[in-house]
Amino acid sequence: MSIKENLIKIKSSIPEAVVLVAVSKTKPIADLMEAYTAGQRIFGENKIQEMTEKWEAMSKDVQWHMIGHVQTNKVKFMAKFVTLIHGVDSMKLLEEINKQALKNNRIIDCLLQIHIAEEETKFGLNEKELNDLLASESFKNLNNIRIIGLMGMATFTENLDQVKKEFLYLKSIFDEIKGFNSQISILSMGMSGDYQLAIECGSTMVRIGSSIFGGR
Ligand SMILES: *Cc1c(COP(=O)(O)O)cnc(C)c1O
Repeated sequence: MSIKENLIKIKSSIPEAVVLVAVSKTKPIADLMEAYTAGQRIFGENKIQEMTEKWEAMSKDVQWHMIGHVQTNKVKFMAKFVTLIHGVDSMKLLEEINKQALKNNRIIDCLLQIHIAEEETKFGLNEKELNDLLASESFKNLNNIRIIGLMGMATFTENLDQVKKEFLYLKSIFDEIKGFNSQISILSMGMSGDYQLAIECGSTMVRIGSSIFGGR
């Protein structure tokens, strides 16, 4: 199947209210252009340099989402164009994003990444760290960032019961902070292998790569 056919198939299998981020990391511009021609405007990348090169090459109505772990010293390269940063998991990173956003006279939307997987290696805040961050004085002074939701990655496992448990846990945290923060509206969870389940569990934004562009 072509990229266009894959996109049509996925689009028809997700509710209209769920936002599709086409994860194009490692893929050549020609592949992104094919998706663009088929109507896709939101692309997800996990390396800042690669995302910047693609941003330079493509139409300026594309929205670029940074979905990977962000190193503080790289924020400056994407601050002028990035639409949404999914993987924010420290105050230090938020402060740098705020600083670079200010320099570019922008407000940058961010999601806080929550650690929901069993694996030690995955990035993200736990529930207490999230609440401490949101309650901190230094957070309240960051006027050039806007936290608009949460992001999480489930454990890489065939065990769908476990994946579901992790998604529902993230959804419960999301609902809780939504209660006292009216800017919170996005729950980014679900990839090629688990997006249907993620949507059942309350995802509002799915990040799909290989099911659109093929394996990497
Ligand atoms: C690569 C990646 C995806 C997409 O994964 P697929 O399995 O190819 O759909 C989603 N989210 C993040 C954070 C990724 O790094």
